[in-house]
Amino acid sequence: MRKPFIAGNWKMYKSVAEARILARGLRAQLDAVSDREIAVCPPMTALVAVAEELKGSMIALGAQNAHWEKQGAFTGEVAAPMLAELGCRYVIVGHSERRQYFGETDETVNKRMQAVLSAGLVPIVCIGETLQEREAGATFSVIERQMKGGLKGLAAPTGIVIAYEPVWAIGTGKTATPDQAQEVHSHIRKLYAQTFGDAAAQQVRILYGGSVKPDNMSALMSQPDIDGGLVGGASLEADSFTKIVRYS
Ligand code: PEP
Repeated sequence: MRKPFIAGNWKMYKSVAEARILARGLRAQLDAVSDREIAVCPPMTALVAVAEELKGSMIALGAQNAHWEKQGAFTGEVAAPMLAELGCRYVIVGHSERRQYFGETDETVNKRMQAVLSAGLVPIVCIGETLQEREAGATFSVIERQMKGGLKGLAAPTGIVIAYEPVWAIGTGKTATPDQAQEVHSHIRKLYAQTFGDAAAQQVRILYGGSVKPDNMSALMSQPDIDGGLVGGASLEADSFTKIVRYS
């Protein structure tokens, strides 16, 4: 019922020339895939080039952040309608690196998410606990707080994607076990149902992110509430991202 969705987060990697090569490589290997949705989120500087490379392909384009205003004196920021103009379909919102290094809060995540929706794009809203929070037994309460604050005022509950990304698993090589991830995914779906109803909760896609690799994707995807992956490091090479997308 929920089509698997795999998105690559290229973070602050790839020059324009490198991004073109990667996009071409992905297109060659993945354009025939139709039973899952695929997106790549290059750095801002490479969006135009990657949009050109992916024109007419099955692979969608995403950005890694968007400001909540449509325009204005916000040096260094980019507005959601500007991303729409470039052909983006998705925008990652509230990635833990933005929360950790750039002062992103549940409130700003919420504002960014609303702006992305207003621009007709699909936000991929990231949530997840730190190692300290997990060890303190606070995983569920952190998730609840991030969902309550981050998704506040969401009017059309079927237009977003949620990514559960335990902070301790991002870029560390430590993946959550499929059972650990499933436990939180199922809790997220339950919370979603409490606010938006069962039908919306059954439709919303919840991706897992945190050291997803070709050899752990199948086990993660065998869990009932894991609907895809948000992939960082392993999305930077065409072969490894292709293997992840083509998990069996
Ligand atoms: C990410 O950037 O969202 C991520 C999950 O990174 P990695 O796959 O490298 O852990």
